[in-house]
Amino acid sequence: MTTYTAVRAPVQRGASGWVAILGEAPEPQVLEQDTTADFVVVGAGFAGLAAARRLTELAPGARIVVLEAGRVAESAAGRNSGFMIDLPHNLPGGEHTAARGEKELIALNRQAQDFAGAAVEDYGIDPHYFDRAGKINGVVDDRTQKIVDHERAHLSEIGEPFEMLGAQTMREVTGSTYYQGGIFTPGTVMLQPAGFIRGMAAGLCRAGVDIFEDSPVTAFTRDSEGWSVITPKGRVSTGKVILGVNGHLESFGVARGRLMQLFLFGAMSPELTGDQLRKLGGQARWGITPADPMGATVRRIDPGQGGNRVIVRAAAAMRSGMRSRALDLMRARRSMQQRFDARFPALAGLPMEHVWAGHLCLSLNGVAVMGEVDWGVYSACVQNGLGTARGTLTGIGAAELACGEESAITRRFLAEPEPRKLPPQPFRDIGGNIAIRWKEWRARLA
Ligand SMILES: Cc1cc2nc3c(=O)[nH]c(=O)nc-3n(C[C@H](O)[C@H](O)[C@H](O)COP(=O)(O)OP(=O)(O)OC[C@H]3O[C@@H](n4cnc5c(N)ncnc54)[C@H](O)[C@@H]3O)c2cc1C
Repeated sequence: MTTYTAVRAPVQRGASGWVAILGEAPEPQVLEQDTTADFVVVGAGFAGLAAARRLTELAPGARIVVLEAGRVAESAAGRNSGFMIDLPHNLPGGEHTAARGEKELIALNRQAQDFAGAAVEDYGIDPHYFDRAGKINGVVDDRTQKIVDHERAHLSEIGEPFEMLGAQTMREVTGSTYYQGGIFTPGTVMLQPAGFIRGMAAGLCRAGVDIFEDSPVTAFTRDSEGWSVITPKGRVSTGKVILGVNGHLESFGVARGRLMQLFLFGAMSPELTGDQLRKLGGQARWGITPADPMGATVRRIDPGQGGNRVIVRAAAAMRSGMRSRALDLMRARRSMQQRFDARFPALAGLPMEHVWAGHLCLSLNGVAVMGEVDWGVYSACVQNGLGTARGTLTGIGAAELACGEESAITRRFLAEPEPRKLPPQPFRDIGGNIAIRWKEWRARLA
C-alpha cells in the first residue's frame, strides 16, 4: 500500500487586500463525510481550478471533487499582483532553438489566457476582473534602460508588438515623475486575482463540480480499488488524483530537495480620497512590472476592480519550511512603503491598508512538475514566476493526462527535465537568501 502524507499544511500571513476588497465570501462547504469521485483535485488555485474546468470539458458527467486546505482565493492565487503575462520574464537572446521554444511558450501562455477568458464568459465573472489591458515594463535608471533596450531588440527580432514610452507618457499614465520611460506590451491580462479565482470556483460549482474548502488533504493512500484521499473530517475514494498544490507538492514527499519555496509580499493602499486622487494624477488603471524582476511591481486600480487604490509588490524571502516569518513581513512592509513614497511623494507616508505574504515555488532550472507522478496521480505544480498563466497550463495539462489526452501543452511539459537538485541545508536557505538580498539591493530603485 502506498501512502503520501502531507507533512505541512499551507499557512497564510497577513490578509490579502484583493480578498478584503471583495467582501465576505459565502459560507464554505466543508467535506464532512466519506464520498466517491471520478477525479479529486487537490488545491483550488490557478492550477487546480483550471484542471477542474478542463475535466468538465473532457469528461462531462464525471464526478469531480476539489479539496482546498483554506478558503478559495486566500492562497497565492488571491495574493498575487494579477499580471497574467504572455511573454516570458527573461527573454533570451537570438539563439535559434531557444527562440523557437520561446515562441511556443508565448503561444501556450496565450492559450492559457484564452482558456481563462472563456471561463470569464461562461461563468459570468465580472469582466473588470479580467482586463486585456497590457502592461508596461518600467525604466528608472541606466541599468533598467539597458534591460529594456535588450527587450526591445528581442521583441523586434521575434516579431512581437511593443511601444516605447518616454518620461512624459509615463507621467501621464502614472502621475509619477519617477519613471524615465517604459516599454508597453499589449498581451498581458490584468486580473483582480481574488475576484477571478472566486468567480472560477463559483462557476465550477454551478457546473456541477463539488468544491470543499477548509478541507486540507492530510494524506492519500492507494488500495486495490484506487486512491483514498483523506481530510480531517472525511475521505474521498477515487481513481484519479490531480495535485494542484504548487510548492506543497514537496509536503507530500514529491520532488523533495528540488523546489525553492519562496515568499513574495504585497501591499494595498486604502481607498484614495478625492484630494489624494488629485495629488496622484495619472490614469485610473495601469500596471507596471519592473524591468529588473527583483524590483517593485506597481498597479493602480479603479472602482471596477475594488476601489481607487495603489498596489505594490516587492521583497522576497526563501523559506524551505513553507512559512514566512513575522520579520519578513515587517521588512517587506518597510520596503513597499519606501517604494510607494519614492514614486508618489505627494502621498508619501500614506500607510498601506493591507500587507501580506504569499507562497510561490520555483525550480533552479525553471521547469514545472507536470505529469503522472504515480499510478493515477498527476501533478500540476511548480509554476515558477508567472504562475497565473503557467498554473493554468499545468492544470489543463494534468487534466488532459488524467483523461488520456495529448496536446501541445502535455507535450511541452512532458519534455521538460526534472527540477534540478538544490544544495543541502543550511546552505540552501542561507545561500538563497543572501543571493536574494544582493539582487534586491541591486534592484533597489527598480
Ligand atoms: C505577492 C505575489 C505576487 C505575485 N504576482 C504574480 C503576477 O503578477 N503574475 C503571476 O503570474 N504570478 C504571480 N505570483 C505567483 C502566483 O500567485 C502563483 O504562481 C500562482 O498562484 C500559482 O498557482 P497554483 O494554483 O499552482 O498555486 P496556488 O495559487 O498556491 O494554489 C495552490 C492551492 O493548493 C492548496 N493546498 C496546498 N496544500 C494543500 C493540501 N494539503 N490540501 C488541500 N489544498 C492544499 C493551497 O491552499 C492553495 O489554495 C505572485 C505571487 C505572490 C505571492
